Amino acid sequence: MLVFDNTEVAFQDKGKHSLRRAYWIFRLVGSPVLVKTGSLLLKCALWMGLPVKWALKPTVFRHFCGGETINDCEDTIQRLGKVNVLTILDYSAEGKETEEDFEYTKRQIISTIEKAAGERFIPYAVFKPTGLLRFELLEKMQAGQALSNEEQDEFERVKGRFDEICAFGASNNVPVMVDSEESWIQDVVDEMVEDLMFRYNKEKPMVFNTLQMYRHDRLSYLKKFILRARQKGVCSAFKLVRGAYMEKERERARKMGYQSPIHPDKEATDRDFDQATALTLANVEDVAVCVATHNEISCAKAADIMQGLSVPNNHPHISFAQLLGMSDHISFNMAAAGYNVCKYLPYGPVETVVPYLIRRAEENTSVAGQTSRELFLIKREIRRRNG
Ligand SMILES: Cc1cc2nc3c(=O)[nH]c(=O)nc-3n(C[C@H](O)[C@H](O)[C@H](O)COP(=O)(O)OP(=O)(O)OC[C@H]3O[C@@H](n4cnc5c(N)ncnc54)[C@H](O)[C@@H]3O)c2cc1C
Repeated sequence: MLVFDNTEVAFQDKGKHSLRRAYWIFRLVGSPVLVKTGSLLLKCALWMGLPVKWALKPTVFRHFCGGETINDCEDTIQRLGKVNVLTILDYSAEGKETEEDFEYTKRQIISTIEKAAGERFIPYAVFKPTGLLRFELLEKMQAGQALSNEEQDEFERVKGRFDEICAFGASNNVPVMVDSEESWIQDVVDEMVEDLMFRYNKEKPMVFNTLQMYRHDRLSYLKKFILRARQKGVCSAFKLVRGAYMEKERERARKMGYQSPIHPDKEATDRDFDQATALTLANVEDVAVCVATHNEISCAKAADIMQGLSVPNNHPHISFAQLLGMSDHISFNMAAAGYNVCKYLPYGPVETVVPYLIRRAEENTSVAGQTSRELFLIKREIRRRNG
């Protein structure tokens, strides 16, 4: 039986100091007022060019990020790896706009693949599409507007970057996961990633797309894609998430007067997430899945299904993933039970990672129960250590 509340296992990599830091962070992000005010002050400080690094680096940055460079992440990679929790390096610079920025991000992602190729504790690479392209370009394409000649060239360069990364991953035996983003650019991303899957997943899953199960159309997309890929003789590979842009999606749909692509309630999202997990697990021969969630029930259900299907815990097509600094009780207890478990390890210059940190703080505030669960377990471990 899989247990998540063994706090000795959950916090085995944390010394007294980092456990205390975790305690204070989850106490602070548990207050919506504080998170709202703090995020606003931080955005203002950055906008005014005030130095914020000194305050962030030893606290939230240290908790949620691996460091500013790949080298900085080394200690964390080894510390996690020792207890069978693997790393996915996630270059987290956001809000980039120029071709130079996109090329720089591409080179960073290639470096993460190089690092992964020589490191047994790094099984996958990952990238966020908007780190490599101009959001408005894809928005225009998905809306069916004609592109100028320059924009067509720009799009060719985007496809070139995607391909270069996935080709490099395939030739170094490092599968690449592509994050998913807002629904109004995601169709174009899906098309690009589908092409890459058809090209590179012939022998094994080397390119993963991400499905946001808060969208009511994703389960049927998944079913159809598995059949399509099978007809072409290639593996399907998906990271399953619930989805990070719910408010934004609903707000846009409301403003523009179209039906929201998001499920009406959490229960429907949970149901589709668990059904998608079950579907991928039942087809594990030619479907690879990364169950990316902080939801204990979804992880436990996946584990039950695997047991029912007599699929080994460490099947190479199945992994679980959480973000660094969150839900260690799931990651460490599942790793101890022999499942393939990864942590997304964001890295990048402190100032550029701020949007990511703000999202983490907001998410921990808005996800009812998540923060109190983390806090409850941290307190229990502190008590256990104090005898
Ligand atoms: C390793 C990893 C990689 C990730 N990659 C991506 C990515 O590429 N793209 C992306 O968008 N997100 C990504 N996420 C974030 C993810 O989508 C979720 O926002 C986050 O993990 C919280 O969902 P949960 O399953 O962990 O937990 P839970 O607490 O069980 O679920 C919270 C989620 O449920 C959904 N939800 C909440 N309330 C409602 C409601 N009223 N109606 C409908 N749905 C609701 C929302 O999606 C919300 O985020 C990633 C997360 C992890 C752990």
